[in-house]
Amino acid sequence: MPIKVLLPEVISKIAAGEVIERPASVVKELVENSLDAGATQVSIEARGGGVRLIRVVDNGVGIPVDEIGLAFQRYATSKISNLEDLDSISSLGFRGEALPSIAAVAQVEVLSRTSESIAGTFLRLKNGVAFETGKRACLQGTSVTVQHLFQNVPARLKFLKSPHTESSHISNLVSQYSLAFPEVRFSLMLDGRMAIQTSGNGELLDVLVEVFGAKLAESMLRVGEGGSTVYGFVSSPSLARTSRNYLSFFVNRRWVKSRLLSRATMDAYHGLLMSGKYPVAVLDISLPQQDIDVNVHPAKTEVRFRDEQTLFATVQRVVRAALVEGATAPQVARRPGAIGVGVSPLTRKSEARQEALFAASRTNRQFSDSAAVKYVSSPSLPILRVLGQLAATYIIAEGPDGLYLIDQHAAHERILFERIREQRSSMTVETQGMLEPLAIEATPRQEEALKAQGDVLESYGFSIEPFGTRTYLLRTVPSLLQNGNIVQTVLDILDSLGEEGDALEREGKIASSLACHSAVRAGQVLKPDEISQLIQDLERTQSPLTCPHGRPTMIRFSASQLEREFGREL
Ligand code: ADP
Ligand code: MG
Repeated sequence: MPIKVLLPEVISKIAAGEVIERPASVVKELVENSLDAGATQVSIEARGGGVRLIRVVDNGVGIPVDEIGLAFQRYATSKISNLEDLDSISSLGFRGEALPSIAAVAQVEVLSRTSESIAGTFLRLKNGVAFETGKRACLQGTSVTVQHLFQNVPARLKFLKSPHTESSHISNLVSQYSLAFPEVRFSLMLDGRMAIQTSGNGELLDVLVEVFGAKLAESMLRVGEGGSTVYGFVSSPSLARTSRNYLSFFVNRRWVKSRLLSRATMDAYHGLLMSGKYPVAVLDISLPQQDIDVNVHPAKTEVRFRDEQTLFATVQRVVRAALVEGATAPQVARRPGAIGVGVSPLTRKSEARQEALFAASRTNRQFSDSAAVKYVSSPSLPILRVLGQLAATYIIAEGPDGLYLIDQHAAHERILFERIREQRSSMTVETQGMLEPLAIEATPRQEEALKAQGDVLESYGFSIEPFGTRTYLLRTVPSLLQNGNIVQTVLDILDSLGEEGDALEREGKIASSLACHSAVRAGQVLKPDEISQLIQDLERTQSPLTCPHGRPTMIRFSASQLEREFGREL
């Protein structure tokens, strides 16, 4: 076929395809327009999964009579006017593509009135072309009705899911916007049934109750404050879900999909959740407009950040702080009697709870000042008096309520794991240079992993240079890596990096691999001061009860249990 420029109607359909993927995309664009118009009330109605009808009614500023037709022209917008404006976009829309895109794939009627007009103006369009206009009484604001979506794009129609599924996308979308704009009153009717209704009183917590239900909302932990860089709510670790779909992120109140933000949030939960579990999070990130780029994708659901590293560290730190603080919340502290670890190892399920309870026990601890025994002062664990080492593997200690057996390897792993991650997130990884570089021979898979993840490894303190066919030279390693076979550690890390998993899992694997290889082994005899140091360091960790793999670092035989076993109980 010879080259020729496509006909306008073909171009507009192609372009519309990028913006309007499914009925929920129409809702998204219309709701964004309403919010940009300063609406305090937005009512949404959908029928047949949005294919039969979508209507969005707002009480915003309205569209002036002489601009209604213009609004449906491609690249017509009132939100930016020159190139510089692109660098500081404060509205949700700016591309001037939504209305023409919707009109290209559906039948549209818009009715709008500004405060200056006494009557509303309506305009009807079919296949993107206006065919009827006139006046009609209406309140100030705009109502857009979209019917027969994708009727003229059979290919799109074929790819839509069931009306039920499409409705659930719409419902999710409205939930997200109502979370981002608690001061706006939203309502969503699906096939005549009220699905969502928020009060618009400005309280995010009230919207959480509406969207997630009172039970979950009540136990969410507040992150930051209104106006701080990171603000919102996250679930306590005990309320984990099995799907990622409960992570909502907004950047300057724009709903975005961001792997970076998911990763940073998940990172904050590291060691607190079982694998395959995800938290609930609703976080708004406020950044200067110049520090983000929203002009990445026609659907505007992605943003680029100027300083990803700092943002990652900030979100991780702030969420982690909320979790640590939440673990000492009064409702938990009221049950200090419940701190038992029990004789059986902690089940993974109860980890988070145990951590919370342990943390709570801090405030209730009684200090004994017996001069005869050496107590290890403790900010986060019960005070432990070290009695000795068992089988060169376990540390035996006495606590306020029983006997503790601590797995020296698991405990040391936990300490190193947190140290590594702390250094990594504050970009202060300590490295040591090799006197003589070590040669590494990698398998093709390991080499792939090294090529793909080399910079991540570097951020952990490894500098690795190519040397020959599948041979590399290791010049520096993290200082923490003192014990063991360094080359084997690197190869193990490369193996784990080659496995399935997202960036977060990979980072976790590197840190836990490093911790595992550097930690004291079972069977290693420890000197008394090494044992004390280990216990002290463990106390300083955020999650002293479990190793990075989720196994317990210690088990406890309670005093009453010992009594029972010895038949001393009455
Ligand atoms: P964009 O939002 O990128 O500017 P749209 O195609 O979504 O592009 O809308 C075009 C223009 O129509 C907007 O810039 C705005 O001026 C006007 N408009 C659209 N919807 C509304 C509304 N609900 N209230 C007021 N003005 C609106
Ligand atoms: Mg728009």
